Amino acid sequence: MTPTVELVRASESVPTGEHPVEPARAGELVPTVEHAGKSGVSLDIDLLDTIIVNLYGTVDDSIVDGPGIRFAIFTQGCRHACPGCHNPAAQPFAGGKQVSAAELWEKVEANPLLAGITLTGGEPFEQADALIALTRCVREKGLSTWAYSGYLYEELLAGVPNSAAPVLLKYVDVLVDGLFIESLRTLDLLWRGSSNQRLIDVAASLAAQRVIEWN
Ligand code: SF4
Repeated sequence: MTPTVELVRASESVPTGEHPVEPARAGELVPTVEHAGKSGVSLDIDLLDTIIVNLYGTVDDSIVDGPGIRFAIFTQGCRHACPGCHNPAAQPFAGGKQVSAAELWEKVEANPLLAGITLTGGEPFEQADALIALTRCVREKGLSTWAYSGYLYEELLAGVPNSAAPVLLKYVDVLVDGLFIESLRTLDLLWRGSSNQRLIDVAASLAAQRVIEWN
């Protein structure tokens, strides 16, 4: 998916024994309780605390997963099994580290230099339900969300691999879609591992009802 996976560091605090909220509920996680966050973003921090993401790891200040300095979130679990995958350890759904959305949000709030977050993996849309509330907060803060997916934009929009996928897609600014295809691998393309992958402006694509590439 993403061409470079370096310096992956696991989150330091690891809650256990919880599961992501159901997609229908996650889509309703509208911030309702004022919380004095550094950015002034209002959110119910207790609610974020109940949402669990299964992570391979995070990078606090990535400069290779989209423009600017980004908080990169590598989810655990991917069923695509692309030959030449740069992150095979993130493919199994078993394992990973259970981290709350609140912990991830605190990392975002702690770094004033961030341009945004990047969801990668692994396949982040396998855990779309657990990532919706976080991306809503990121948008409210005025930061951007990039996401890498082995699924195509059209598939995500149609509810593959789950019904939460199109909901999460709404909160993604730029989607890098498609499998990593080793024979199409090139180092010439910015932020893509293989030339089949597209950089998609999601808001423009949703408005136009066709794929609009980001540039
Ligand atoms: S989509 Fe392909 S390259 Fe990306 S993590 Fe999954 S198997 Fe690896």
